[in-house]
Amino acid sequence: MTAKITQFLAEQRPETPCLVVDLDIIADNYDALRRFLPVAQVFYAVKANPAKEVISLLVGLGSCFDTASRPEIEQVLAAGASPDRISFGNTIKKQKDIAWAYEQGVRLFAFDSEAELQKLAQSAPGAKVFCRLLMTCEGAEWPLSRKFGCDAEMARDLLIKARDLGLEPYGISFHVGSQQTRLDQWDIAVGKTAMLFTALNEAGIELKMINLGGGLPARYRDDVAPVDDYASAIMNAMTKHFGNDLPLMIVEPGRSLVGDSGIIEAEVVLISRKSYDEDVRWVYLDIGKFGGLAETMDESIKYRLQAPGEGPSGPVVLAGPTCDSADILYEKYQYQMPLSLKVGDKVRILATGAYTTSYSAVNFNGFEPLKAYYV
Ligand SMILES: *Cc1c(COP(=O)(O)O)cnc(C)c1O
Repeated sequence: MTAKITQFLAEQRPETPCLVVDLDIIADNYDALRRFLPVAQVFYAVKANPAKEVISLLVGLGSCFDTASRPEIEQVLAAGASPDRISFGNTIKKQKDIAWAYEQGVRLFAFDSEAELQKLAQSAPGAKVFCRLLMTCEGAEWPLSRKFGCDAEMARDLLIKARDLGLEPYGISFHVGSQQTRLDQWDIAVGKTAMLFTALNEAGIELKMINLGGGLPARYRDDVAPVDDYASAIMNAMTKHFGNDLPLMIVEPGRSLVGDSGIIEAEVVLISRKSYDEDVRWVYLDIGKFGGLAETMDESIKYRLQAPGEGPSGPVVLAGPTCDSADILYEKYQYQMPLSLKVGDKVRILATGAYTTSYSAVNFNGFEPLKAYYV
């Protein structure tokens, strides 16, 4: 909760639910990352919060951008970034979108399969390509699982193939899983990457870049290590496995840059019980899974909540307002709220600057997408 956000909510009294983002926090987070990890180039993962205010701010601060689609690339270009500051980092791209990005001047592309490599060879000749390694994502609260990446043996073969197809085998990427709480995960990943650098060297290919992905956390209910601890863990892993001969380093933070910059203000729509002898109150808010809180899926991300009122608290199940039974935020993990809570009270959901607006449905059950204000 920053003074700017508090003041905005007090003066403007916007309709709920809404997200209010303090852009200064994003600038501070960006500066801190640059300070603690000065040798790495920052590629902001646009999907975390694609608002034009956020992108423009980061263009101005000198950031590069990790993009996943043509519209994301268009947004970044429209905000004034040159195409050499853009990575097309999705490993699943349509051929026509690759061709379009290449035409715009984008020259850095991700892949994790032979079929994607063939598309790149055809539509992005000579481009720099990097192969994404499969990770286990242990310790991540929002794991990216087996969907992305291939194993090291395949990565080696594909990077050799990239050269043979006329592309520039440029480097290796990985993502240790989002909201990663275990600092040792980078050590494992950097170790695997260094072994691949060696294996490719033996095949006559000198890779130049390691893309360390995202995964740095925002602070939700549980404390997390500060960004400088993550930066030292990453640097220690780099020097341990690469010695003094460090390749070009890229990081792709999303959550850690924008997560704690915003808060959602929501309203209590209904409080009820399921029977006379149950203590647990059901608290229905005007925002749920489909309104922007998709990361509560399986109760993965546990947001910090602020409800008004003092005095004793009791257990609650929190749910959204839609007519879908999946629209329950927290049931297993029991949140507590004041017993004095009443319909119409405002509840604040902290650290919701990342993965909220970009996840909110356009019109499910007639509810509008999450409104956002950037101050
Ligand atoms: C989503 C994503 C990121 C950002 O991850 P965070 O955990 O939010 O920092 C970075 N790189 C890629 C390729 C991604 O898909």
